[in-house]
Amino acid sequence: KETSSCSYIIFDPQSSFEQDPHHNIEPELINAIRRNEFELFYQPRVDILSGKIIGAEGLIRWQHPQRGLIFPDMFIPTAERTGLIVPIGYWVIQQAGEDMQRLLASGLTIKSLSINLSFRQFQDSYLCRTIQRLIEKYAIDTSVLEFELTESALFNNELHVREGIEELHKLGINFSLDDFGTGYSSFSLLQKLPIGSLKIDRSFVSGVNNNPDDREIVKALIRLAYSLNKEIIAEGVETLQQLNFLASFGCHQAQGYLYSKPVPFAEFKDLLQNGYQL
Ligand code: C2E
Ligand code: CA
Ligand code: CA
Ligand code: CA
Repeated sequence: KETSSCSYIIFDPQSSFEQDPHHNIEPELINAIRRNEFELFYQPRVDILSGKIIGAEGLIRWQHPQRGLIFPDMFIPTAERTGLIVPIGYWVIQQAGEDMQRLLASGLTIKSLSINLSFRQFQDSYLCRTIQRLIEKYAIDTSVLEFELTESALFNNELHVREGIEELHKLGINFSLDDFGTGYSSFSLLQKLPIGSLKIDRSFVSGVNNNPDDREIVKALIRLAYSLNKEIIAEGVETLQQLNFLASFGCHQAQGYLYSKPVPFAEFKDLLQNGYQL
């Protein structure tokens, strides 16, 4: 339900930087867009068996002139609520396009570059047209571009979301399901939509070595991916034990602090060129 963003934010502790619940960050977010205060970090996606970096996920950061680096959990919810996620989302895509051009210019390639797409971005009727324009402007290889969607975005069953996904898929863009296992996936819808891969949520991965329930859930999620003919990626991998468990049950792609935290573009480029250290 939409009300004035002001009355909304007052009751949402998430949208305040400090403990002050009356702090409204919407004006600062608008300024941040104008002053170009965002930065796109990258976290490598690794092929477990070869150890090679095969892709990356772009994760937004806000470099606030006074408060320093701000993580997305502190402002994405407000951006979604106020609709500011629409211009922010375009900034992310154009930044990713620019960075991909820079990678190519250095002779570096990756198979996938993922970007998180909020459900709210589909409410912009220019979404597909704008993305198409950005793809042309930065000569983005759409087979490399991947949009990550959460289950709540996918399964609210709204027609315009499904149509948007189909239209973007026609441009060659891939989709993946983020935070897999935490929502309410409808398997029939999962089959109907052009979702190429599933990302096992970090909350399950973190428990595979000490929590029998998490272990069974992860095994089931991997089996499910295989039977639905989707790729499977584990997120939030922090230890070698977790990695070994995942690999032994057939999950061959991983992201997590074990390999690298999300890093600025220059550092990601360095990781691609020189590798990471376990
Ligand atoms: P997400 O898409 O589930 O991203 C994964 C989060 O887990 C990232 O947090 C990442 O830094 C963190 N992470 C990765 N590996 C590990 C690990 O091994 N251990 C731990 N403890 N954490 C790990 P981050 O960057 O703070 O992003 C949080 C969320 O904000 C993202 O969750 C995503 O939902 C949202 N977000 C980030 N960037 C964007 C964006 O450009 N657009 C939109 N719409 N949402 C974004
Ligand atoms: Ca994600
Ligand atoms: Ca995730
Ligand atoms: Ca998440």
